[in-house]
Amino acid sequence: MIPEDLDDYRRLVARVDDHAERVTAAWSHRFACRSGCSGCCQRSLSVAGVEASSIGAWIEEHGLAPEAGDGEPFVSPLTVVNPDDVTPCAMLDAGGQCRIYPVRPVICRTHGLPVAISDGEGGKRGDTCPLNFTEAGLGEVPSADFLDLTTLDTVLAAVDLRFSLATGSSPGERVPLSDLADR
Ligand code: SF4
Repeated sequence: MIPEDLDDYRRLVARVDDHAERVTAAWSHRFACRSGCSGCCQRSLSVAGVEASSIGAWIEEHGLAPEAGDGEPFVSPLTVVNPDDVTPCAMLDAGGQCRIYPVRPVICRTHGLPVAISDGEGGKRGDTCPLNFTEAGLGEVPSADFLDLTTLDTVLAAVDLRFSLATGSSPGERVPLSDLADR
């Protein structure tokens, strides 16, 4: 891999971050997100090959912080993705901090934001963390402030395919974050 191979991915990440920054600033009074709150991270994640390469390169350069961590973790039962399988992400430390925060996957950059997801009937519905927007719901949020996760997945898949063609890696490959943590 040469650094330019990750350019498309970095551009996608920058656009997601710009959106997140704008929406978080506009609706800061409706967000409960704070350091240590890590309900979103109680899951075993796998990532696309292009994301694994980005994370792997960063770990090689910076190393991984110890799992022990500092600070106070907070996990609301309301925010746990799958109550039957509460497995902390391999990149989460005991203080509820992400050990790869600068290069965390795209999906992690959407944690807590208003998102549009499939309603299972060919349409879309709004969703967000159950701790956010609790006073007035999502009805007051304009459509431009929702991140469409279906579109985001499609763009990420296209970026990943282009990356795999450029680097000779397997298209569609998924890499568990636990594998990257164990390297
Ligand atoms: S990569 Fe980081 S932000 Fe994403 S689930 Fe794991 S600990 Fe949480």
